[in-house]
Amino acid sequence: MSKPAQPAANTTEGTLAEIVSHAKEYGFVFPSSEIYDGLAAVYDYGPNGVELKNNLKQLWWKAMTQLNQNVVGIDAAIFMHPTTWKASGHVDGFSDPMIDNLDSKKRYRADVLLEERAAEYEKNGELARAETLLAEMGRLLTAEDLAGVKQLIIDEKILCPISKTGNWTDVRQFNLMFSTQMGAVAEGSNEIYLRPETAQGIFVNFLNVQKSARQKVPFGIAQIGKAFRNEIVARQFIFRMREFEQMEMQFFVRPGTEEEWYQHWKAARRRWHEVMGLPADKLRFHDHEKLAHYAKAAVDIEYEFPFGFKEIEGIHSRSDFDLTQHQQFSRKKQNYFDNDINPETGKPYGNYVPYVVETSVGADRLFLATLCQAYQEETIVEGEGEEQKTKTRKLLRLHPAVAPVKAAIFPLVKKDGLPEKANEIYNQLRFDFRVVVEEKDSIGTRYTRQDLIGTPFCIAVDHQTLEDNTVTIRHRDSREQTRMPISELRSYIGEAVSLSRIFEQL
Ligand code: ATP
Repeated sequence: MSKPAQPAANTTEGTLAEIVSHAKEYGFVFPSSEIYDGLAAVYDYGPNGVELKNNLKQLWWKAMTQLNQNVVGIDAAIFMHPTTWKASGHVDGFSDPMIDNLDSKKRYRADVLLEERAAEYEKNGELARAETLLAEMGRLLTAEDLAGVKQLIIDEKILCPISKTGNWTDVRQFNLMFSTQMGAVAEGSNEIYLRPETAQGIFVNFLNVQKSARQKVPFGIAQIGKAFRNEIVARQFIFRMREFEQMEMQFFVRPGTEEEWYQHWKAARRRWHEVMGLPADKLRFHDHEKLAHYAKAAVDIEYEFPFGFKEIEGIHSRSDFDLTQHQQFSRKKQNYFDNDINPETGKPYGNYVPYVVETSVGADRLFLATLCQAYQEETIVEGEGEEQKTKTRKLLRLHPAVAPVKAAIFPLVKKDGLPEKANEIYNQLRFDFRVVVEEKDSIGTRYTRQDLIGTPFCIAVDHQTLEDNTVTIRHRDSREQTRMPISELRSYIGEAVSLSRIFEQL
C-alpha cells in the first residue's frame, strides 16, 4: 500500500501475547467455542476480524483475477471424490514426522524441533552450522530415514522444553487429513476427507475452466477457501490452525517455460506483500530443503513475526505431476492443444499436459502478519514545561483499505441537533464505506477506541458544523486534525481506501 506501516522512533511493536489479547478484546479473533473452554487450534473471527480478513481476501482476489486477464477464479466444494486424494498423494504421503517425549507425554514435529535448533544457531551468528543442520534434515526426510531424523535430534542434544529430557520415542509419520463419512451408513458409507488444501479443486476443474473461460495457456485459476489439517502441534495462535483458509492460484504453463513463470510469480507475490504494508526488511525468501519428488523448485515467503521468520506463502513449481496423476486415476485426458507455432519446428506446439506454478498463501497467516505489523505502542509527550505529560497510546496502523471501519463519526455532544447531523453524514457515507456513529463517552475516549481497532479517520461534528457544514477530521497516525466541508468527505476517504492507489504500485 502507499506507505508500509513503519513504526516511528517512539513506537514499540507487540509481543505475540499482547497481540492475542488485543485481538480478543477488540473483536478480531476469539477462541472457538470458548464457553466450552475452546477447541485446540480452532478460532473464530469477530466483528472487526471478519472485516479485516475480508478486506485482505478482496485485495488478493482482485490482484489475481482483476489485474490479470488470464487468471480466473473458482469456488470448489470442500468435499471431493476420495480418489482425488489418492491421486494427489495425500492419502499416502501427506504426513508430518512426529516424535513424543516419554516423560512429558508431549508430541512434537521432528522437523520443527530441528528447524528451531537451526534458528538458534542463526540467531547466534552460526550461519554455516544452521545451514548444515537444515541440509542434513532435508536429506534424511527426502530419504524417509526416520531413524536418522531421531538420531539427529539426539546428536543435537535437543531436549523437551517441558520435561527437559531427551527421552524420545521413535519418529513416526502422522497423516494430517481429517476424514468423515458421507451418506447414511446403511446405504454403504464412504470415507471422504475434508480437503487439506484448495489446490486439488482447481486441478480437477482444469479443463472445465479452460474451456468455459476460453483461456489459453499460460493462464491461472485462483481460489479462496477453507482447508483442514490435523496439525500435530498447533501453536502460535492463528499461525497454525486445524481449520484455516487458503488463497491459492495454479498457473498452467507450456512445459519448458516453468522456470520463467516461477521467477515471475516469486517476484510478483513478494512485491504484493510489500505493497500491502509488510516492510521489505521483514520479508525474506526461504528455499525448501526438502523438495517433493515431483517439484522442480519451491520457495517460501517468510515474514518476521514476533516469534521469528516464518512462512506466510509458498511458491511451487510443480511440473505436470498433478494433472498427470489425475489423468491416470480418472482415465480422463488432461491434455491441452496449443495452437501457437513453435519457431523451432514451424508447427503448433500441439498436445501436452501443462506444467504448473502454484502460489499459496494462508489468509489467516496474512491476517496475523498484518496485525503484528500494525500493532504499535506509541509514547506521546503532551504539553510543555511543568505541564508536560507522557502517555502511551496503543493503535493499529492498518492501511485504510484493510481497516475494519473506515471512519467514525462523533457528535461532540448528545444534544443541539448534533446527533442528527452525525446521522445525516453517516447516511451519505454508508453506501461507499463501513462507517459508524459513536455518541457515548468523551471525545478522547472515542478516539482511543477507534485507534485500537485501526480506524483511519474520526469525524467530529460540532456546533460550527450546523452553521457552515464543515467537520473536523482527525487522522489516526499523526493525530492531526483538519477542518473539511462535509461534501468533500466521500472523495477524501475514497482516495485513501482506493485500491487503484495500491495496485498501481504492483
Ligand atoms: P508449514 O510448513 O508451516 O506447515 P506448509 O508448507 O505445509 O506450511 P503449504 O502446504 O505450502 O504450507 O500451504 C500454503 C500456505 O497455507 C502456507 O504458506 C500457510 O500460509 C497456509 N497454511 C498451511 N498450513 C496452515 C495452518 N495449519 N494454519 C494456518 N495456515 C496454514
